[in-house]
Amino acid sequence: MKLKVEKGDITTFKIDAIVNAANTSLLGGGGVDGAIHRAGGPEILNSCKKIVAEQGGCKVGEAVITSAGKLPSKYVIHTVGPVWNGGTNDEAQKLANCYINSLKLVIENNCKSIAFPNISTGIYHFPKEKAAEIAVETVNDFLQDHKNIEEVIFVCFDDENFDLTNNELKKLDQ
Ligand code: ADP
Repeated sequence: MKLKVEKGDITTFKIDAIVNAANTSLLGGGGVDGAIHRAGGPEILNSCKKIVAEQGGCKVGEAVITSAGKLPSKYVIHTVGPVWNGGTNDEAQKLANCYINSLKLVIENNCKSIAFPNISTGIYHFPKEKAAEIAVETVNDFLQDHKNIEEVIFVCFDDENFDLTNNELKKLDQ
């Protein structure tokens, strides 16, 4: 199976790229964003600042790539998930776009493996079950057309996301 789920802290993963659930400013925040910048050191923030100077941040659903500083991964892909606003603001498509645009950067940068956190399910309050469904379906669809990606890991920080993601992965086997 190319798709896996693990529990843990994404900053510890030795993999081609880890994904950060960033915000539009790209200048750091709480949750996984804070953890990545704390563990990776100032190099990541400096790379983000260069991107901000060039293109003025990152829109919801889009993604940018930087070096990973002191982290064991090669790259950090920063994507901006939607804030949950009841579901009427195209949140589902925006969340799917985070996964698609992150995976496009994986291909463009000749990476083979990537780890995702449960984007938008923390401070942005996206319902976890729906987010897990979108994450697994979107990544699985993308991999059908991009056979050179070897491994995608959903790194869950809490038991609820771990169980929900596991359930979605089991549905793919049926
Ligand atoms: P968002 O603003 O997109 O909701 P958060 O960082 O608040 O982003 O939360 C996204 C998910 O990342 C949540 O499920 C949260 O539990 C999880 N998370 C927080 N810290 C880490 C970490 N170090 N590694 C992996 N996942 C994490």
